[in-house]
Amino acid sequence: MKCIGVLTSGGDTPGMNAAIRAVLKEGEDRGINVMGIYHGYKGLIAGMVKQLSHQDVENVMHKGGTVLRTARSKEFTTQEGFVKAVDMLKAYDIEGLIVIGGDGSYRGAKLLADNGIKTIGIPGTIDNDLGYTDFTIGFDTAVNTITGEIYKIRDTMRAHDRVGVVEVMGRNCGDIALWAGVAGAVDIILVPECDLSWEDAMRQLVTNKLKGKLTSMVIIAEGAGKAEDFANYVRTNSDIDIKAIVPGYIQRGGNPTAFDRVLAARLGQRAVELLDSDIGGRAVGIRNNQIIDVSLDEAVNSVDNFDKKLYQFNSVLAKF
Ligand code: ATP
Repeated sequence: MKCIGVLTSGGDTPGMNAAIRAVLKEGEDRGINVMGIYHGYKGLIAGMVKQLSHQDVENVMHKGGTVLRTARSKEFTTQEGFVKAVDMLKAYDIEGLIVIGGDGSYRGAKLLADNGIKTIGIPGTIDNDLGYTDFTIGFDTAVNTITGEIYKIRDTMRAHDRVGVVEVMGRNCGDIALWAGVAGAVDIILVPECDLSWEDAMRQLVTNKLKGKLTSMVIIAEGAGKAEDFANYVRTNSDIDIKAIVPGYIQRGGNPTAFDRVLAARLGQRAVELLDSDIGGRAVGIRNNQIIDVSLDEAVNSVDNFDKKLYQFNSVLAKF
């Protein structure tokens, strides 16, 4: 291949810049021109395309967000918008496309692949909700951010003998809650994958209090409900003093962890390697520390790989 394009799409995630850098460097090493497509599919339709150079990826490894910017595009999902996007790729002689994003972006990538454009997906989402890969870029950073927040919140909860319930992102996936919950030594983890009722969770808090543990921490994945609703439920049905905390977008930004940067580098390298072998319609990922690739079809339909054993073990870790 002589020319490939790269774009970031959907929610931004720490580590996207490391992936873009890896794509550019690997492309250059193979004598391939790498075109940066700005603002995701929206920018592709509008022709926001520029050849990337070293300066574009200089000093960006430690930055969250994406130097290519990102967007969501309704127009791309229409027949007319899709045709414009394909035409634009042809106009810029882009023979292969790398899409860094989550499952929605992957569906767009699959549509392109089904229409003859060699397209590779790189998993970029903090949610870790693509089951074919053990980890997505940005997840580790988000988990580290939330783990740090839990300890700060616990300090002030402890000062007042309160319970804190922290709501984290993840859409329908409980991975951020699980990993940050275990790392942050929380007492109760509420996720959509496991059916711990709010009543049972509250009983646990009451038992903790009766045993002398006045400060407990709860983490709730957004897919399992709202922190404020859980706090209201507990307030209504017990004498526990509980505060709801929603860290929100801070878990989408910040300095990517070394793990996310290295993962991004490895995935970016494989993505270019595939295109250079004339292979499209694949999504790259990591399984058992090996870089793998699966069809985009398998990637968008993959079942969740939530670690139920780790989830169950947390109730052992949290015993008081
Ligand atoms: P995140 O998980 O971080 O939100 P995402 O990639 O899932 O990221 P989406 O908003 O779902 O984010 O998708 C990004 C873009 O991908 C959409 O704005 C749309 O342009 C395109 N897209 C999503 N679903 C489809 C689909 N079924 N067909 C074609 N394009 C799609």
